[in-house]
Amino acid sequence: MDIYGMNVFNDAVMKERLPKPIYKLMKKTIDEGLALDSAIADTVANTMKDWAIEKGATHFTHWFQPMTGVTAEKQEAFIAPQENGTALFEFSGKELIKGEPDASSFPSGGLRATFEARGYTAWDCTSPAFVRGFNGTMILCIPTVFCSYTGEVLDKKTPLLKSMEALSKQALRILKLFGNDTSTRVISTIGPEQEYFLINKDFFEKRIDLMLAGRTLFGAMSPKGQEMEDHYFGSIKENIGSFMHELNLELWKLGISARTQHNEVSPAQFELAPIFCTANVATDHNQLIMDTLKRVANRHGLACLLHEKPFAGVNGSGKHLNWAMASNDGLNLLEPGSTPHENAQFLTFLCAIIKAVDDYANLLRVSCANAGNDHRLGANEAPPAIISVFLGDQLADIFEQIATGGAKSSKQGGDMTIGVTTLPPFPKDATDRNRTSPFAFTGNKFEFRMVGSTFSISGPAIVLNTIVAEVISQMADRLEKATDFNKELQKLLQEIATNHKRVVFNGNNYAEEWVDEAAKRGLPNISSSVEAFPELISDSAEKLFEKHGIFNKIELHSRYEIFVEQYGKTINIEAMTMLSIARRQILPAAVKYATELATSISVVKACAVGCDVSAQEKSLQELSTLMASFKNEISVLEKATVEAVDIEDLYERAVFYREKVITSMQRLRTNGDGMEELIDDELWPLPTYAEMLFLV
Ligand code: ADP
Ligand code: MG
Repeated sequence: MDIYGMNVFNDAVMKERLPKPIYKLMKKTIDEGLALDSAIADTVANTMKDWAIEKGATHFTHWFQPMTGVTAEKQEAFIAPQENGTALFEFSGKELIKGEPDASSFPSGGLRATFEARGYTAWDCTSPAFVRGFNGTMILCIPTVFCSYTGEVLDKKTPLLKSMEALSKQALRILKLFGNDTSTRVISTIGPEQEYFLINKDFFEKRIDLMLAGRTLFGAMSPKGQEMEDHYFGSIKENIGSFMHELNLELWKLGISARTQHNEVSPAQFELAPIFCTANVATDHNQLIMDTLKRVANRHGLACLLHEKPFAGVNGSGKHLNWAMASNDGLNLLEPGSTPHENAQFLTFLCAIIKAVDDYANLLRVSCANAGNDHRLGANEAPPAIISVFLGDQLADIFEQIATGGAKSSKQGGDMTIGVTTLPPFPKDATDRNRTSPFAFTGNKFEFRMVGSTFSISGPAIVLNTIVAEVISQMADRLEKATDFNKELQKLLQEIATNHKRVVFNGNNYAEEWVDEAAKRGLPNISSSVEAFPELISDSAEKLFEKHGIFNKIELHSRYEIFVEQYGKTINIEAMTMLSIARRQILPAAVKYATELATSISVVKACAVGCDVSAQEKSLQELSTLMASFKNEISVLEKATVEAVDIEDLYERAVFYREKVITSMQRLRTNGDGMEELIDDELWPLPTYAEMLFLV
């Protein structure tokens, strides 16, 4: 209790330290999302500085989220030198509100030429400032948005805030129609579950693929993987437990409510989930969680891998985005109650979300597209690339009733009796869970499971907020005009239930039959990110984002370009890293072992005439064949990488990477992994899968 939030300039600190009238203004600004009054900025800045200095801070930074997907900061000392050779600590309101970092070297997707350097950061006072660091080197971090000199958005935060406003505006219209005049804002709430791997740091440092690409580019499968299902929820080892303990302390100090922790499905895989909060704060927190995971791991002799697929052959990592809407007076708009069929307001929002997911499935898909997530979505693991909604028995039944003329009842769960007399019976949920669905209703929220573990949650959240805002606005347009609200609502919901039931699917999303069934229903199945990217600049996307003031056309195209370019760069780095490992580590090891075998054959033959050396000969033959093929694949990949860079058009280049470079990488890997299984363990230059996954 003493440490929770101790490093955050939160409401309690402001209340205690700011003059009362200024605190009141500040609180109003934050609660009602108003513009900050610059008249109070100096006082707030000064108070913030004094507080930060007491915590050991010497510097402040505007902390922002450019399109790199990670956070950025430029630290500045508080010092103001005086004429007499001493210095004072200073921090003005201006410095708090606005920063002016050089924007030229951040991805801008053609929005900014390198010579047009000016960019601005501006304080997002709805996300609290905090100090972080360790061993006495603390930095005051001020969460900011980031835009160009000409006002175009260059970050992941601004559009998120805009999408939250859009959703609020539209959802309030519906609430009003249901007679609610007390709520003044609707907030999108998010609780992201973060999956990650931990491996021994020594192994990490011996693998440039992990260091540079975040995933293993070579590596034969360990004889044991995850098939025994003994890691999932298993007893947490002591060293991992102490890592988690320190991680939690660090996060709690930052006011991040790290709550659940467990072993995940794959060996060496884990998960952490905080308690949900407002979408923009959750986004900041998730960035801090990813960063803190890496830092604390390092202190414990571990390396944290956040990549979507660090190891082939075992599960990859995702980030389940739990999402709901709440009114500012504390009402969860997705709370069905015990008899959902009578809860018209809930059903209205539910239908809106279902329609939104169906209408804009492709946008949800592209919000989870990157090179790393291609190893999960549409590959042989959770969840598939086809977007569908799981409602569970109770709601699916009600949805069906709405389609056929009106909901009259809600299936109930009844009591659970386990059949052991000493155990008390307890009420059973009305609905079972489904772990395979990409978009599942889980009691009073939706869980969007396609997001990859490295992603900023901002992208998926922007899409979710905006598509739901759009459908709600369409519904409100109609309902506001209706002479008989109830009748029109009934008609509207029936239409939605009829037209969009195709997107509702409660079955096994991993089953092959689902792929066929989904195709019959006309649901899109976009299996790779390269195919997904153009969805971002479709006519419907442009219209949608422009209508709600999230992105203009130029901003949308710049994002598209960034994603396409990042994809190509990622594959290029992977290919170059593979080539380096192949030429400088694997091939030399193979040559050494081949020489050992050859030496053995001639030495043994010379010592003992007639001695059977067929084992060595066969091994040498096998190895030599693989080596030749490996060397050949190296040349093929080299050629492909050179060809790729020559392709001017970024999209065509990305397609080439997917079709030619990746397939060539796969062949090279197959050969390399084959040699790993032949070569003397002592000579093998890379830590193996068995070591990395099981020696944590
Ligand atoms: P599970 O693994 O069963 O899905 P977890 O406990 O790992 O459950 O994660 C559930 C997440 O959903 C938590 O982060 C939780 O705070 C979040 N959550 C709960 N209610 C809401 C809500 N109304 N809005 C957003 N997120 C929510
Ligand atoms: Mg979970």
